[in-house]
Amino acid sequence: MIIQLKSNITADQKNQLCEALMLDKYNITEVKTQAENYLVCIGKKEIDIRTIGNRAGVKDVHIVSDSYKLVSKKWKVSNTAIDLGDGVSIGGNGISIMAGPCSVESEEQMQKIVEHLVKNNIRIMRGGVFKPRSSPYAFRGAGVEGLKMMHSLCAPRGIKIITEVMQVSQIEEMMPYVDIFQVGARNSQNFNLLDSLGEIDKPVLIKRGISGTIEELLHSAEYVFSKGNEKLLLCERGIRTFETAYRNTFDINAIQVLKEKSHLPVIADPSHGVGIRNYVAKLALASIISGADGVIYEVHEKPEEALSDGQQTLNFFESDQLVSKIKRLVLSGVCG
Ligand code: PEP
Ligand code: MN
Repeated sequence: MIIQLKSNITADQKNQLCEALMLDKYNITEVKTQAENYLVCIGKKEIDIRTIGNRAGVKDVHIVSDSYKLVSKKWKVSNTAIDLGDGVSIGGNGISIMAGPCSVESEEQMQKIVEHLVKNNIRIMRGGVFKPRSSPYAFRGAGVEGLKMMHSLCAPRGIKIITEVMQVSQIEEMMPYVDIFQVGARNSQNFNLLDSLGEIDKPVLIKRGISGTIEELLHSAEYVFSKGNEKLLLCERGIRTFETAYRNTFDINAIQVLKEKSHLPVIADPSHGVGIRNYVAKLALASIISGADGVIYEVHEKPEEALSDGQQTLNFFESDQLVSKIKRLVLSGVCG
């Protein structure tokens, strides 16, 4: 059960409400986010919610049968939209495009990609500076200096930044330069990281774990929400299966399921989802038809020279074509 509290609830009213719930053996977690004040109540006893809804200080009460609560669609009338400022928002009616290199490499590389994004009116740039790599000898990212350089190129052009944070200690130094923190597939269940991201006021995109179920992804999002941050995005990025013909198995089913189960925006990552350049664009389009609120993909001037994930990275021509197809698809009205 989720109880939405009024902003003017008094301490006495809240205490009385909690005491009544505890008498009925409910376990109560108070959640205060940027937008609202909630009590998430877990218990077995069936209660008449009118006896709670009628109390002073209570705004609304919702029974949510899912094991995740705040991220469930069962209690929210409308889907969540996230406003990044400067006319950039995710969720709601439009389709968001986030594009950029797998890794931030050099100023020259980033300058060219910024120009490519501006030309295509792409308002959100991806680019990792802390890279989770399977081998410790592979390029592991340009670090905060790379992020600062990315920011100095993006901010003047009104381009927002999404980049991966790998550990709690990085959050603070990254904060001024980041618009969306990305939790990578390998950290999808790093609960300490999720807790800490719940304490900040910046959007967080959580990728599905490499072997993570849809429910586990929703619970990861619940961690962040329940610590106080409701600016959340869910991302399908492919899972590991027995198939070896491609890097990951992009779970297109997950998009519709996530959209049905949660009010949060769903973003598709076809680059990691399949891991092969030739298949990325069609998967991006299929995701949009399936109801994704946006796509995130990798693009580089010379993918064959990229320091990471070149094999799944589009070149500028392929990216131009994809953007124009996305625009045509959106205009055709077949998505959603
Ligand atoms: C990435 O976005 O470059 C990345 C490493 O993604 P994932 O966590 O999905 O592997
Ligand atoms: Mn990558």
